[in-house]
Amino acid sequence: MRIIRSPDTGDAVRDVQHRLLELGYRIDADELDGRFGPSTEAAVRTFQQQRGLPADGVVGGETWGQLVEAGYRLGDRVLYLRSPAFRGDDVRELQRRLNALGFEVGKEDGIFGARTSDAVAEFQLNVGEPPDGIVGPGTLAALERLRPAVAGPSRAVVREAEDVSRLERSLAGSRIAIDPGHGPDDPGNVGPGGLVEAEATLLLATDLADRLAERGAEPTLLRRGDERPTPSDRALAANALGADLCVSLHFNAGDPSAEGATCFYYGTAATHSPAGRLLAELILEELTTRLGLTDGRTHPLAVAILRETRMPAVQVEPCFLTNPREERLVADPASRGRLAAAIASGLERFFRAGATAASAARGTDRPSARRR
Ligand SMILES: [Zn+2]
Repeated sequence: MRIIRSPDTGDAVRDVQHRLLELGYRIDADELDGRFGPSTEAAVRTFQQQRGLPADGVVGGETWGQLVEAGYRLGDRVLYLRSPAFRGDDVRELQRRLNALGFEVGKEDGIFGARTSDAVAEFQLNVGEPPDGIVGPGTLAALERLRPAVAGPSRAVVREAEDVSRLERSLAGSRIAIDPGHGPDDPGNVGPGGLVEAEATLLLATDLADRLAERGAEPTLLRRGDERPTPSDRALAANALGADLCVSLHFNAGDPSAEGATCFYYGTAATHSPAGRLLAELILEELTTRLGLTDGRTHPLAVAILRETRMPAVQVEPCFLTNPREERLVADPASRGRLAAAIASGLERFFRAGATAASAARGTDRPSARRR
């Protein structure tokens, strides 16, 4: 889609403004004739912050998608499994209620997929409705009757935390999806020396795939050469691969003095992925200790590659492409190899952390005996 931003004017801006107003955001009266002014931009930034998107005040594909999804309330439309899947806040509310009632839908991602459909059918069986997986008026009324008295914390968070401790595999033999951020139509940031983010992510992805293959893993790149997958295409490809983990690579941008490593995991104000967060923390620790990079911390983010993937996923921004010193770090094959090795070590530690948690849960943990 075309990007809508200040100082655009016209129907597309008016559409954005109406959606924001309906969601309760404030826009100055003198901008409501379709002028993307300061109050519209401020409303977009607040909306993005609340939805876990980068708060750049610009309406691109992901922000537009979230504006549309935010407009749906449970009951606005009949929900069922179809392709492409229904997406929206109505689906997220359905998932939250099913999880709260003990019908497992997993991640509350607002996407009506197979697991949500199965949970609906299981719920319908329990309340004596035909188990067709279709959320119409009858099923909605049953959900309403069973609404838990107290809105508890999201159970998806608890459940995924348990899944981490069940992850007993090692990096060797596991499938790792690597997403080189951006592409030919969307170059991303450019460094002062001319290094383009879309090319830098591909170089680093190739190095990372080499490091992972050396350690016995099966890496797959979600973009090669001049392919142009959308973020959703990449998430679907990672799901189709049955990947155990997904690592999306980007580089940060800011003023020339901004520096350091940052990692993101799936999260919004209401929910987050504990496994993704652990993975982000381990990778960040490896990057900061091995390369001496400034610690830019881990943050929740709800972009497609983190939200629509079905496995623990992270977006790694090892350093700033706009910082001359850090740009050279990426351009130089030897130091780029060290970045890749640090990320690979973070992945390895994630699997070890899972195995330790699992054996501790069984009460048979003897880490000193296992270390040879
Ligand atoms: Zn990027």
